[in-house]
Amino acid sequence: MQMIGTHMSIAGGIVQAAENTVRMEADTMQIFSRNPRGSGYRTYSSEEIALFQNICRENHIGSLLAHAPYTLNLASATQKTYEFACMVIREDIARMDALGMENIVFHPGSHTGIGVEAGIKNIIEGLNQAISGTEHITVLLETMSGKGTEIGVSFEELKAIRDGVKYPERIGICFDTCHVFAAGYDIVNNLDGVLEEFDRILGISLIRAIHLNDSAMPFGSHKDRHAVIGGGKIGFPALLRVMEHPALSGIPFYLETPLDEQGHKEEIAMLRKELAGRKQ
Ligand code: FE
Ligand code: FE
Ligand code: ZN
Repeated sequence: MQMIGTHMSIAGGIVQAAENTVRMEADTMQIFSRNPRGSGYRTYSSEEIALFQNICRENHIGSLLAHAPYTLNLASATQKTYEFACMVIREDIARMDALGMENIVFHPGSHTGIGVEAGIKNIIEGLNQAISGTEHITVLLETMSGKGTEIGVSFEELKAIRDGVKYPERIGICFDTCHVFAAGYDIVNNLDGVLEEFDRILGISLIRAIHLNDSAMPFGSHKDRHAVIGGGKIGFPALLRVMEHPALSGIPFYLETPLDEQGHKEEIAMLRKELAGRKQ
């Protein structure tokens, strides 16, 4: 059975986020590793961490995924921006590892004019400062739509980052359906072909998380705008094929669709019902 969850707010703390996940009847969850647009974070007490982990364990909520802030740009050539990104990713890998999160995903970054190669070099150096090689957490690179000068729009770019780091075994991939579709990978008409290409370049086993989103923007548009499942250009049948693809079995799915908690609860229930119906 597919594990399904959504992005959960940590505005009320991590314990609250876990309780909300239980109420949503989800199997998994994604939370921000800190304030997504600022730089602040709360230090979690050991009691809070224990309580969070207990709620997850007792309710079979697994494959916990952290998402680093959007403001972080490890590809930046601007010293201040780059140093900030290096600090945040280093701190958050350690913080989320201590919280017992299985994976932490981040957007590789935008090179803002210095070129893909130089941007990738910066990302690699930042990751090498951040990953000690002894943590349990896996660091996931997210597939990107390619807006502006975003890196990670192609599987080859993600491979170049992974190949360059000191501990490649600590690096996996988060496959975002909205982003790959907008990047020009045709998961609607040629899902097998896209996954074969991913397997050839990176290896399918590197996919540790799937962001399940429909896309409000057309194929190959390089624009990143999520739509509710079935409400965008990818469509419901194509997203169900992703969920049922044998090559992706066992990988958790996280919804990042523009809905509130009640809407997400209904979206999860709707997906489960549809998947169960197709198995009979
Ligand atoms: Fe993301
Ligand atoms: Fe995403
Ligand atoms: Zn997105």
